[in-house]
Amino acid sequence: MDLEEEVAKAQALLQTHSPSSVVASLGLAVFCVCVDHLLLLSLVQQHAWLRAAVDNGAHGAIGLWSWAIVVGLRTWSGVWESVLAGCLASAVDLDHFYLAGSFSLEAALNLPRRPPLHCSSLILLLCGSLHLLIRACRPGAPWRPLPWLLFISLASHHIRDGTRRGLWVWPFGNTPPLPYWLYVALTVTLPQLCSVLMGVLGTREADSRRHKAALDV
Ligand SMILES: [Zn+2]
Repeated sequence: MDLEEEVAKAQALLQTHSPSSVVASLGLAVFCVCVDHLLLLSLVQQHAWLRAAVDNGAHGAIGLWSWAIVVGLRTWSGVWESVLAGCLASAVDLDHFYLAGSFSLEAALNLPRRPPLHCSSLILLLCGSLHLLIRACRPGAPWRPLPWLLFISLASHHIRDGTRRGLWVWPFGNTPPLPYWLYVALTVTLPQLCSVLMGVLGTREADSRRHKAALDV
């Protein structure tokens, strides 16, 4: 490993634990609590579609915010990646309609079992397979963070849902519902954990080069 690679890794890890990253993580915790208070408003509770829209919007915003912490919003690629992470985090709930076989919200919310994209074992399978595929095919730096982006989108969604129904860890079954404090703590920790793992596995280094102009930390 040459000096340039070592410097890129060190810069990436510095960015991970920069003051702006810590402030953004605290902001994410505050957002999680605020949006759940918003969901408790009687106006929201009385309208099922509004409640579903706010809840799904929260999933998207948390996915977007989490990936923004990982990459920083200093370049357009970071912005678009964060938007993609938000869209994926929201899109996970489409499997409710898939399993219900209709666009009826009532049917989608009263399923006999949990829909497929809510299986947490799938995260390791999907992200691990994508990571191995990208390592094997070496498609270029812009593609390398994709498994981690998917990981953040899915994991943040599952953790948030986990406060109500626990995590579905096939084939072992469901965990008990996650305590609220654990949900907030895991959500805030996830981007930091992701950044460190990306650094350890070398993805973050490629990402640093891609965002080189932005790494003036
Ligand atoms: Zn969900």
